[in-house]
Amino acid sequence: MSEILERSPVVQKLLEIACGSSRAEVSRVEELIDRAVQMQLPMIDSLLDAGLVQEEEFFIGVSELARMTLVVGALEPSDVPELKKICSAALAIRYQVVPLKLENDELTMVCYDPFRMEGRQALSRKLPYTIRWVMGERRHVRASLSAIYGVGADTFEKILAGRDIDADQLAEKDEASVLDDDESDEASVLRFVNQIIREALVHKATDIHIEPQSDILRIRYRVDGQLLDVPVPERINALQSSVVARLKIMSRLDVAERRMPQDGRIHLKNAGKSIDVRVATIPSVEGETVSLRLLNQEKFDIHALDLEDSVKESILEVLALSHGVILATGPTGSGKSTSLYCFLDYLNKPETRTVTIEDPVENKLPGIVQIAVRPEVGLTFAKGLRSILRADPNNVMIGEIRDTETAEIAIRASLTGHLVFSTLHTNTAIGGISRLLDMDIEPFLVSASVRAFLAQRLVRKLCEHCAEPVKNWSEARAVELAVPPQIYQLGGHPSAPMGCPECRHTGYQGRTAIYEICKVSETIQNLIAKGADENAVFEQAVKEGFETMRDYGWRKVMKGVTSIEEVLSCTHSHSGLTQI
Ligand SMILES: [Zn+2]
Repeated sequence: MSEILERSPVVQKLLEIACGSSRAEVSRVEELIDRAVQMQLPMIDSLLDAGLVQEEEFFIGVSELARMTLVVGALEPSDVPELKKICSAALAIRYQVVPLKLENDELTMVCYDPFRMEGRQALSRKLPYTIRWVMGERRHVRASLSAIYGVGADTFEKILAGRDIDADQLAEKDEASVLDDDESDEASVLRFVNQIIREALVHKATDIHIEPQSDILRIRYRVDGQLLDVPVPERINALQSSVVARLKIMSRLDVAERRMPQDGRIHLKNAGKSIDVRVATIPSVEGETVSLRLLNQEKFDIHALDLEDSVKESILEVLALSHGVILATGPTGSGKSTSLYCFLDYLNKPETRTVTIEDPVENKLPGIVQIAVRPEVGLTFAKGLRSILRADPNNVMIGEIRDTETAEIAIRASLTGHLVFSTLHTNTAIGGISRLLDMDIEPFLVSASVRAFLAQRLVRKLCEHCAEPVKNWSEARAVELAVPPQIYQLGGHPSAPMGCPECRHTGYQGRTAIYEICKVSETIQNLIAKGADENAVFEQAVKEGFETMRDYGWRKVMKGVTSIEEVLSCTHSHSGLTQI
């Protein structure tokens, strides 16, 4: 195989641009481009799909090569309803182009692949306007397509085009018969459902909610803990029954049962990665709602928790222990399971054995034995835990300590040489002590077994694209907010959320956890054993360097990671010793 390909000047130039914006080896880029040419695949998509180029830089080069204006950043079309009428979803999505504005009969259209001539020609033929072509980055073109037309709009248009039924009639039909209509229709609905899920994965959503309402099928994604309305094609309610039925079939639920809630699971493959989806249907007066939870979406790496040094040191110190109980506290959705998973992953070595019992198992960890509680067959936390301990583990995780029996077994396990992780439902780290005592655990047992209480909350991270330094930031303002002097003196400057298309005008993108950790020192052990109250333990812990979650939050604020408002709203003013 020594055939040398003759590259056309344009291809050669594109290759140079790709290499210039790539960290991959030149030979890899060459190979990919030559293969695309040979197989007549679009070169730009091939490069981007392979993740070989840095998109922003790459498109600057391509636009220069094509002598087209590049629209930098997110696209903001003007008068969307009008543009949608001019350019249908089928055309825009098929050719991956976005109508941007119409001025004096001149239509500005954005493409990301100037070498796909057939799209540009087709649009010139079909639209009665002079078209001015400009370029945008692919990710922005795609985001704009789903914002303008709604997720899966092209599939949706095709389905409707193939159906000679009006929407109202369709909605009243029985779900099962809708699916029987014809096979190609069924394939299209499946494709539409897949598009909804794929789009959710692109947005790093954890949940998808499909909710019928009187006039529209509402689809929402949960991203960074917040629910977001997903733009959907108009008249999507015509497909409501088919979409719900399709999801129920995929999750092996009873399609005919629409009055009772049902639970199921779907296993999907996306880009070679397997994805578990937990499905729950709930009958509502407007119709059945379907909630999908996308599992296995997180990576568990202690270094990705972005821990401040003081807390990181304490955590690593505790993880180095051979036995003891480590408790993570916080309300539901505070990310405590994520932290525990990261700890288990850190401890997961070939020579150790880690077993968990959870309700339910939300994320599978490679190399770790995970058990789901099943109260209906008598497999409770307490019972599961007893059998786990007979199976000789080093580390054990119990999803949650809810009752005395589980707490007692956990403590006993730690006293017989196991490192035991679990969660408790309290607000603060030190509040965990009272919670255990409330469960009738003897103070001396708590003091002898628990090695650390960790509490946490999730705060939203400021959007890196639009956050701006807080004006009038001064020492006086820091004093007013009770930012400890030692943190203020570290320097830095708080930022505030502004909002831009990148963060959907929220000012925030992603979340990070803020922590407080109380290591149980000998002095604190004695206090607990003596039955001292939380305040006494708190004061002693502070003497030993304990920092509250709010102060931890201030560290993140001074670094511009999160905002003052986020920390104020997610934490209590002092130690916050109240129970939930
Ligand atoms: Zn932003």
